[in-house]
Amino acid sequence: MTADDIAIPSELLPGDGRFGSGPSKVRREAVEALTAAAPTYLGTSHRRDGVKQVIGRIREGLGQFFSLPDGYEVVLGNGGSTMLWDGLVFGFIDQASLHYVFGEFSAKFAEATALALHLRPPVVIEAEPGTHPPFEVAERIDVFALTHNETSTGVSMPVKRPGTEGLVAVDATSAAGGLRVDPRDFDIYYFAPQKCFASDGGLWLALCSPAAIERIETLGESDRYIPLSLDLLVALTNSRLDQTYNTPALATLFLLAHQIDWMLEQGGLEWAASRCDDSAHRLYTWADKAAYARPFVVDPGERSHVVGTIDFEDEVDAGAVARVLRSNGVVDVEPYRKLGRNQLRVALYPAIDPDDVEALTHSVDFAVDALRGDS
Ligand SMILES: *Cc1c(COP(=O)(O)O)cnc(C)c1O
Repeated sequence: MTADDIAIPSELLPGDGRFGSGPSKVRREAVEALTAAAPTYLGTSHRRDGVKQVIGRIREGLGQFFSLPDGYEVVLGNGGSTMLWDGLVFGFIDQASLHYVFGEFSAKFAEATALALHLRPPVVIEAEPGTHPPFEVAERIDVFALTHNETSTGVSMPVKRPGTEGLVAVDATSAAGGLRVDPRDFDIYYFAPQKCFASDGGLWLALCSPAAIERIETLGESDRYIPLSLDLLVALTNSRLDQTYNTPALATLFLLAHQIDWMLEQGGLEWAASRCDDSAHRLYTWADKAAYARPFVVDPGERSHVVGTIDFEDEVDAGAVARVLRSNGVVDVEPYRKLGRNQLRVALYPAIDPDDVEALTHSVDFAVDALRGDS
């Protein structure tokens, strides 16, 4: 019997088998609402009311969801978080940034700044995968780059101001919507909708403090060369009109607005974060008890509640377990490829039902037993 032949009993399987860390589960109700709205929404101008109202709903909804203080603004543009890194390199970092690096994503933003000829080389404070770095500071830094949740390793880090000077830029791509945050602790908190916001990729969103807006305006008006598609001041100007500089994906916007509305109806960020806590508790409790598995992140306080990573003992091949799950419709729990560990990675985002996370653990137990019976 090969992995592909193992049938997990349907009563053990989760109701929805999507556990990918991004793109992640999109709720059926949101897709149905999009289908219903499609005839008058999809294929219409993004400069007209129909689409602008959806962007307005997103900007206002996020303000409410994150309890943004007066003066904070929601800015958006095309290209996802990766594109925003380049936008920050051009239009947010004045001279030099400091990066807390503890995995692939935090490292990528540091690399993007290292390539910029107009900036001094970045300062990098690095930690081993599976932990997060200490809040060390350095001289002459005008942007501190934090990552609220390192999606590649399943480690989350608190959002706080490392020093009294310098703006705080937080990559919250996989954290925003699932982890608690106080807007006073950041200047720009940015993300993309294909993770906790259960939509599709290709868009970036940024919650900006008054100091962040001032920085964007100052650099945007300076004589530094900034490509227009990466210009944060252009993005800010367009966002204020509930539009984007160039054409956005209308389906992505719709699904995002739907998810924000849904999470607000359920109780907002506190509700969403509690639901992620519940899923995380079920996943890590199971892993602690399982003889063949354990949470990859040793310190329980650093374990992410939005992306869980579970290491397996050598005798169990996590890749084979993932294949069994995949052939049973439970997908995308393979580890982050570059981390290269014998582990499973499980998204715990708000759209994912905690009962489904628990069902996933039972399905893994079944798959491991079946694979063992095989050897
Ligand atoms: C997914 C992810 C990114 C990349 O997002 P894109 O929208 O694909 O550019 C960046 N940072 C973190 C922490 C992520 O989880």
